Amino acid sequence: MSEKNDWLAEAGDSTRLCHLGHDPFSYHGIVNPPITRASTILFPEAKGMENPTQKYTYGTRGTPTTDALCDAINALEGSAGTILLPSGLAAITIPFLAFLSPGDHALIVDSVYGPARHFCDTMLKRMQIEVEYFDPALGEGIERLMRSNTRLVHLEAPGSNTFEMQDVAAMSAVAHRHHAVVTMDNTWATPLYFKPLDHGVDISMHAATKYPSGHSDILMGTVSANAAHWERLKQANGALGLCGSPDDSYMILRGLRTMAVRMAHHDRSARAIAAWLEGRDDVARVLHPALESFPGHALWKRDFKGAGGIFSFVLKAADKAEFKAKGRAFLDALQLFGLGWSWGGYESLAVLVNLSDRTICKAPEDGPVIRLQIGLEDVEDIIADLERGFAAVKALA
Ligand SMILES: *Cc1c(COP(=O)(O)O)cnc(C)c1O
Repeated sequence: MSEKNDWLAEAGDSTRLCHLGHDPFSYHGIVNPPITRASTILFPEAKGMENPTQKYTYGTRGTPTTDALCDAINALEGSAGTILLPSGLAAITIPFLAFLSPGDHALIVDSVYGPARHFCDTMLKRMQIEVEYFDPALGEGIERLMRSNTRLVHLEAPGSNTFEMQDVAAMSAVAHRHHAVVTMDNTWATPLYFKPLDHGVDISMHAATKYPSGHSDILMGTVSANAAHWERLKQANGALGLCGSPDDSYMILRGLRTMAVRMAHHDRSARAIAAWLEGRDDVARVLHPALESFPGHALWKRDFKGAGGIFSFVLKAADKAEFKAKGRAFLDALQLFGLGWSWGGYESLAVLVNLSDRTICKAPEDGPVIRLQIGLEDVEDIIADLERGFAAVKALA
C-alpha cells in the first residue's frame, strides 16, 4: 500500500477518511477489509514460537482487521501507535494505569468525563496516587500546581457537559518542563477538528463509541501515543490483557468512512440550534465553544477546525428548588429527542446534567443544565421539538 500512502499522506482529511487503513487490492479488490477473527494463530515451525518474527502471534496482540483500524487512526492522529479498548472509559483508565505509580501526583481537569473522575477517586486513590483537579481556565497557571512527583496531566477540551476550553499547548509545555506526561480526551472534536499531538499532547484518547461509530451500536475506545510514549502504553495494554474485537474494529472503520460528512452536518445543525437557543428569553446561557458569547471561544477559534454536535444550555429558572422539575418537564415533553446517555449517533438525544461531583467548576446558579446531542434530523424538526419542551416548562408556572 506504499504507493497509495504517498498521495494519501498529502490528501485532505475527508479523502483520507475514505481511503485510510485498507488497500482493496491487498484482498481481491474487495473495498472493505475482511473480518479476521482469531485467538490462536499458527506458527510454521517451533523455532518461530520462541522468538516470533511473524506479524501476528495471538489474537489479543492484533489481527489484520484491528490493524486496519489502528493504521487509519495513527494516520489521523499523527501518532506512533494506537491501542483499541472495549470502551471509551477504558481508553482513559488504561493510560492512567500505564503511566501512574503509587506515590505519584496526577492533575486532572475538573470538567473531566464523570466516570473517569470516579475511577480517579476510587481506584487511583486506593493505589495511593494523589489526584488533584484543576480549573480548566488555568492555562500557564497550572505551573503552580506542579510538584516534584507530578507524573500526569489530563485534559479534556472542551470539558464534558459544560464545555470549558483549555489552552492545550500552554498546559502541555508546562507539564513537559516538569517531566509529566500529557493525556487528552479528544472525543468531542475527533481528530478531524483537533489533533492533540500537534499541540503538545503525548497521548490522545477517544470514545470511538461516539462519532467514529456514529450509529449508537458499538462500544470502543482508542488510545494513540507519540513515539516517546508508545512502548510503555503498548506494554501496559499487553500486561492487562485488553484488546478490541475484529468485528467492532470493522464497524468503527466503516463508521470512519462517513465521519467527515456526518460531523459537518452535526456541527452545522448544532450551531444553528445553539444560536436559536441563545436568542430565547427562557434560556439563561448556551454552553457551546463556537458561540462568541462563550468564555472559551477564543481558544476554540485559535485551535479547532470545527465543533462537535453536542452542547448544553442553561434553562432559566430563578429558584434552585424548581431546577429539577423544570428540567424534567422540558425533557418529558420531547418527542424527537431520545432521553439517553452517550452521543455521536445519528439521532438527537437530551439529558439533564448532574454536576454534583465538580469541585471547581460548580453547577450554574441560573438554572438546570440540559445537554443536547444534535443528530442528523432536519433542523426545523429539532427546533419544533425543543419548542415543545419550552412550552411544557412555561405551562408549569
Ligand atoms: C462517552 C465518553 C467517554 C466514554 O465512552 P464509553 O465508550 O461510553 O465508555 C469518554 N470520554 C468522553 C468525553 C465521553 O463523552
